[in-house]
Amino acid sequence: MVEKILATLEQSNCATDTTFIQAVSEVLHSLEPIVSSDRRYNDYAILERLVTPDRIIQFKVQWVDDAHRVHINNGYRIQFNNSLGPYKGGLRFHPSVSIGVLKFLAFEQIFKNSLTGLPIGGAKGGSDFDPKGKSEYEIMRFCRAFMRELHPYIGARIDVPAGDIGVGAREIGYLFGEYKHITRNYDGVLSGKPYAFGGSLLRPQATGYGVVYFAREMIKEELSETFEGKICCVSGAGNVALHTIEKLQKLGAIVITCSDSEGTIYDPNGIDLKVVLSLKEGGHRISLEQYRVKIPTATYTSKSEYQEGAHAVWSYPCFGAFPCATQNELNERDAQNLINHGCIIVVEGANMPTESKAIELLQNKGILFAPGKASNAGGVAVSEFEMSQNASMEKWDYDKVDSKLDKLMCQTYKRISLTAKEYGCARNFVDGANIAAFKRVAEAMILEGV
Ligand code: NDP
Repeated sequence: MVEKILATLEQSNCATDTTFIQAVSEVLHSLEPIVSSDRRYNDYAILERLVTPDRIIQFKVQWVDDAHRVHINNGYRIQFNNSLGPYKGGLRFHPSVSIGVLKFLAFEQIFKNSLTGLPIGGAKGGSDFDPKGKSEYEIMRFCRAFMRELHPYIGARIDVPAGDIGVGAREIGYLFGEYKHITRNYDGVLSGKPYAFGGSLLRPQATGYGVVYFAREMIKEELSETFEGKICCVSGAGNVALHTIEKLQKLGAIVITCSDSEGTIYDPNGIDLKVVLSLKEGGHRISLEQYRVKIPTATYTSKSEYQEGAHAVWSYPCFGAFPCATQNELNERDAQNLINHGCIIVVEGANMPTESKAIELLQNKGILFAPGKASNAGGVAVSEFEMSQNASMEKWDYDKVDSKLDKLMCQTYKRISLTAKEYGCARNFVDGANIAAFKRVAEAMILEGV
């Protein structure tokens, strides 16, 4: 059954939609033990419906740069499944954005959102606009032009976009400003808003902190360990990576790497977060090569120097690896390097950063592998907390949000760990996450009818 659905999907999707097919294939193979256990899944064509987006919205975004030149970009919103609640998922502004990439991200989002136990469906959107090198006013004009096209399709009870790569609080602010201007509605239509008007405390930190709360719970339960004195490697130097590093350091870990799209920093004394922040904070995208100007004992390896298709960031001895940059950034060779260097856990901060073959290798060698759809769910969870606060016109204090986030991440770990045990694949958190998430969505789809 699974192979038949995958074959149909490959025929009906573009050959370039490889990440989408990769994500669906991983999920469907995980579900093999469960799909034949309940005939309603077949009767209601749950798998076939689950892999088909509810709708794909595509639009033209026209904007004018500081030199008065006109530019055109593609904008998208993929509303994949709203069985559990309003569509929810980030907006990504990056030149690599395409329908295929967004379909993969939106599909993953359904499962991630289900795992949180919260009432939110799955969606994703964005544009092939490249924010790098753009002025503040160009970013503002682009965001406002994007929202002019997107606004008819979203709403606080319909679809609530948030941030992702290239979209932080600043961009969400501009998007919200335009939405309000057009609709005159001051509601929780976007999450990740600045705290000054409707944002939640801890939203910027939520994904990274959540990754570490999840990992802390996993090593406590599985290894009776803590992060005190443990060497960790983190990739990325954006929102997720920086807050992952911050929380790991708070728990006593020594984080020795971070990276951006141009290269990797290795600092044996532990990454100095203040230096990285001075290069990357507030939308600045200064190369990490500059880190060495402040910390001459660190090593910088540029992308062109990476050896034989292996990423420098995964080439150091460590206890834990945290891929927090982008999809498919940890391949089979990287996984072998991590194994050779004694790595014990791999916890995904980004969405699908580990290639399928690398996951298989890590799991076969007994490495504890936490899939992003579970371990990075803290961001969307606090986005939902923001929706709750907006709907009730409340403001929760920092401790309340933090303790709810911590509890939710621990529960997510427990849910997938128990599910894995129940279905005879203990410690396989990929299968545990896919099965636990699927059961909740499938039940809602059945109860809502066709
Ligand atoms: P940011 O834009 O803040 O940071 C992304 C980081 O990854 C940057 O350091 C960037 O480097 C690097 N990067 C981007 N593309 C590539 C590439 N092709 N190769 C190597 N490095 C790259 O994004 P976020 O931190 O928000 O997101 C990171 C990941 O986490 C994504 O997969 C996202 O979908 C996922 N995620 C994010 C959530 C959030 O709350 N922000 C929630 C859940 C998941 P450079 O600046 O040089 O481009």
